[in-house]
Amino acid sequence: MSSLTTPGSRTIDELLAAPQVQAAFQFFETNAEAINNEHIAISSIPAPPFQEHERADYLCRRFQQLGLENALVDEEGNCVALRRGRSLDPLVVVSAHLDTVFPEGTNVTVRQQEGKLLSPGIADDACGLAALIALTQSLQAAGIETNGSLLFVATVGEEGEGNLRGVRHLFCEGPWINQLSSFVSFDGPGVDRIINRALGSKRYRVTLRGPGGHSWSDFGIANPVHALGRAISRLVSYPAPSEPRTTFNVGRIEGGASINVIPGEALMDVDLRSTSERELLRLDAFFRRAMREATEDENATRRQGNPPLDLSLQLLGDRPTGETLPGSAIVEIALEATRLLGVTPLLDQASTDSNLPISLGIPAITLGAGGTSGNSHTLDEWYDPIDRARGLQRGLLVVLGLVGLSASQ
Ligand SMILES: [Zn+2]
Repeated sequence: MSSLTTPGSRTIDELLAAPQVQAAFQFFETNAEAINNEHIAISSIPAPPFQEHERADYLCRRFQQLGLENALVDEEGNCVALRRGRSLDPLVVVSAHLDTVFPEGTNVTVRQQEGKLLSPGIADDACGLAALIALTQSLQAAGIETNGSLLFVATVGEEGEGNLRGVRHLFCEGPWINQLSSFVSFDGPGVDRIINRALGSKRYRVTLRGPGGHSWSDFGIANPVHALGRAISRLVSYPAPSEPRTTFNVGRIEGGASINVIPGEALMDVDLRSTSERELLRLDAFFRRAMREATEDENATRRQGNPPLDLSLQLLGDRPTGETLPGSAIVEIALEATRLLGVTPLLDQASTDSNLPISLGIPAITLGAGGTSGNSHTLDEWYDPIDRARGLQRGLLVVLGLVGLSASQ
């Protein structure tokens, strides 16, 4: 038995036993095929970074058809829809992300093979979006009335270059700021993981510029590629701790025109990550100093009368680190809901939309939407809906644990 109570003072196992909740659970089993078809429909709409509007419009229409209030696409491009309970407090965000990592023109036609669905983005995160629709349908079909309210949000900009712009807008600028009590996102498949720790990252483009010249006759002009070499050499000397896990990566370099030309420009893209904000800041400070000192070293070797190299650091991405504590109500509810469904829960860490609310101190977790998948972020991405119902049941139980069933039910 649990001591945890939900708004409306029921325990999670009492919630689970409620007839309406059982009816909603049954909905997922009975409608497995319809849920697959919805999933296919969503995944077949391209949603490249910064071009999520068509998919957002589709979800908006679906939420309207299902009877949610105020379904609209907000000024950032998120699809937002309210399922009002008896009160607007607590107001729990139930979310998944619209964008995929795939560029415009990628073939997103869904193929079916031996029960699996194959298409780029089918799992990350079309299955989360399908979960939002399925959760809404189950709540409506079972006539569930909640204490608090649910704000369904399909976000833009979760992947790389999007830099969490959708969820940032929701929590920092949009009309709902200061009203949002907690955040649950569905990202990818699975039934056991509960992501309560946010993996932080900082991403930079480092650009070095100089006058350039002839390799022989102008020797002594500061060389941006040489400076880049010095910079990389300094960076890789960083003693990154394995605990808390901290990593760096020079992922791409570019520069130069020809073997006998001193380049006018060179650049590199660098990714810094840590599970600890303190370590991330420490690595970030080291990185910035290394870039400055490497530039100074190269400038110090140049012949008199030549201009120095110019260094620019452009922040491409900044994802905050943080944690929703294991003892917090949202994590406890998720742990308990997972166990009640016969699954051993696993607390985990990742970089997801939850990073943003976590950094603001708002309780947030990311859950799998059921099923399994593979080859994520590749053209061979697949999703297997086997046991999807259990993931949706867990999701529903967590969400109801946060808003509570209305006392009259
Ligand atoms: Zn994702």
